[in-house]
Amino acid sequence: MSAVSSSERSLHGWGRTAPSTARVLRPASAVEVPEAVADALATASDGLIPRGAGRSYGDAAQNAGGAVIDMTALDRILALDRAGLRLTAQAGVTIAQMMARLAVEGLTLPVVPGTSQVTLGGAIASDIHGKNHHQDGGFARHVSAITLLTPGGELLDLTPETNPDLFYATLGGLGLTGIVTEATLKVEPLSAPWVAEDSDRTSGLAETLEIMAMEESHRYSVAWLDLLAEGGKFGRAVVGRANPLPASEMPVSSGILHASRSRFPGVLVNGPTVEVPKRFPGALLRHSSIRAFNELNWRKAPRSERGRPRALVPYFFPLDAVGQWNRLYGSAGLVQYQFVVPSGEEAALERCFELIQRLRLPVFLAVFKRFGDQFGGPMSFPLNGWTLAIDLPADAAGLGAALDQLDQLVAGCGGRVYLTKDARLRPELLRTMYPQLDLFNQQRSLVDPDGVLRSDLARRVGLLEHSA
Ligand SMILES: Cc1cc2nc3c(=O)[nH]c(=O)nc-3n(C[C@H](O)[C@H](O)[C@H](O)COP(=O)(O)OP(=O)(O)OC[C@H]3O[C@@H](n4cnc5c(N)ncnc54)[C@H](O)[C@@H]3O)c2cc1C
Repeated sequence: MSAVSSSERSLHGWGRTAPSTARVLRPASAVEVPEAVADALATASDGLIPRGAGRSYGDAAQNAGGAVIDMTALDRILALDRAGLRLTAQAGVTIAQMMARLAVEGLTLPVVPGTSQVTLGGAIASDIHGKNHHQDGGFARHVSAITLLTPGGELLDLTPETNPDLFYATLGGLGLTGIVTEATLKVEPLSAPWVAEDSDRTSGLAETLEIMAMEESHRYSVAWLDLLAEGGKFGRAVVGRANPLPASEMPVSSGILHASRSRFPGVLVNGPTVEVPKRFPGALLRHSSIRAFNELNWRKAPRSERGRPRALVPYFFPLDAVGQWNRLYGSAGLVQYQFVVPSGEEAALERCFELIQRLRLPVFLAVFKRFGDQFGGPMSFPLNGWTLAIDLPADAAGLGAALDQLDQLVAGCGGRVYLTKDARLRPELLRTMYPQLDLFNQQRSLVDPDGVLRSDLARRVGLLEHSA
């Protein structure tokens, strides 16, 4: 009888749509992971999938009727090579935990997503990106070694040199090539836990695109778009571009003394300051109230501002201050739709924006970023081009049909949707959006010949049917 703790539980993603029940096994240490896998395979009839912090919006970390291996107890930082700028950690450690530890040494992570609450395993399996993809690529570019447990119980040490095909398939591989138990990644010096932000408020889409398309010298760049404003105001935005702030320019009010300005203990520990109540009425997020909110948000931004110091944590993770903000969307939950279209396809991008407006989608947060060169695995999401992420109430009228139309436009110009955030993509478009699917499946069939690694997402989008 296995010692791994387990229970039958209903799980959902951050969007709180499509919950499903699985047997959840939570290994308490690295030695218990193979035990958990063996136990899952002996008892659950429908395979298994690893799970991190459950911050993917859709069903990537669920497995209805099967087993889910919860990796969050494996949260140890194993080694920090200060001189070589390398960190090795277990897969369940979060971005917040890594950043807090690194800050003590005057170091930080090169790529972080919009929340600090994702695990290292989840960051690898989704090949996450940050506000600096145009300069630094995604997470994958900074991972130098992965330890992967196959369903057969074999522990593989993967690097780009020793086993490039499986290494890259695992980056962005959605947990379908095995369980990442630990990984090594590059880290970098942290000049100060601040950035200096330039902000521009644009009056319409043409101006927004013009600024975003400019030769980019800033390390971080992101625009918040108002896709509900009408007429010439459509596509107006607040474009924020930032660079790390040198320690010598850190605001005195930061409370960090000159003497300690190369190490920053405590400054990156972050927790929610307010919590959304359990039964928040999602009806508040309807078209008219969102329009009013967007108007306010745009108006309160300065027309143009240069070099405003912003503390790193609220700059990178603004939503982490509001605990369980996904409850704002009420009991039906939310869908985050994120797509990328390649550079050169700006006309298609504008058609996507127009479609969103024409279909009257209640878009509250529209986050627009630029991606740099493609790098990563066959299932990695980023392409050189433009990406838009929109949060939508899952029960918005006509949402499914509207997003199907957007999918067609996106796939038609060589773009794709981000599978880790997906909750509704139809299988027909998977291969068009991810043309290296066969390459991925070749690797999958080598490590998992019986096809026991399965998730609700993989079943729903037909990922498991496409065998090499
Ligand atoms: C507020 C918010 C902001 C976000 N911002 C961004 C952003 O800016 N950029 C971006 O790219 N993403 C962003 N995301 C998405 C998020 O970064 C990814 O979904 C990430 O994968 C979640 O990690 P997790 O630990 O929660 O993993 P889970 O959601 O639990 O799992 C995600 C996937 O990883 C796999 N997985 C988890 N652990 C392992 C493991 N040990 N071994 C193998 N596979 C594993 C799962 O099987 C699943 O397929 C955001 C999400 C939220 C909620």
